[in-house]
Amino acid sequence: MPSPRFCPQCGSGDLRHQLPPGDTHERLMCSGCGYIHYINPKIIAGCIIEQDGKYLLCQRAIPPRPGTWTLPAGFMESGETTEQGALREVWEETGVRAEIVSPYSIFSVPQISEVYIIFRAIAVENTGQYGPETLDCRFFAPEDIPWDSIYYPAIRQILERYIEERQAGVYGIYMGNDDSGKIHFIR
Ligand SMILES: [Zn+2]
Repeated sequence: MPSPRFCPQCGSGDLRHQLPPGDTHERLMCSGCGYIHYINPKIIAGCIIEQDGKYLLCQRAIPPRPGTWTLPAGFMESGETTEQGALREVWEETGVRAEIVSPYSIFSVPQISEVYIIFRAIAVENTGQYGPETLDCRFFAPEDIPWDSIYYPAIRQILERYIEERQAGVYGIYMGNDDSGKIHFIR
């Protein structure tokens, strides 16, 4: 994440990493006015949407990794809830109006300072109209899912787990540490 070169509060170029009084982490601070530049993780909200045993995936049109398939998900905007963000991303990326059923997976990727929150959701309406960030989107039966074109291991794991759970008819909530880390079952 790029750091500012000038203080956004007073315009000074004298920004230094230091420990603010009473803080636990070093921050970029302005020596002129005392402004502190906080960097906090970004939250990505999205949904796994199953319909008649098929799963909604979208193919990315834009970087990173155009052409790969993934669950509809994206960065939350300020002023919205995680649920609103997830449903908005589903709408923008797939043209599907959906409703949240429950939380499904929460995993952190500390290396890049991101947190993913994935909900189970159901499709209410499929308009077939989606935004420019999407090349294509479709409901896939498990045997037709383009597994090799799903870049993120965590997204593959979420789908694999969901498919198994659907067969058993019992859904858990999972928390994980990163793309390849352990995921824990919570009852
Ligand atoms: Zn300043």
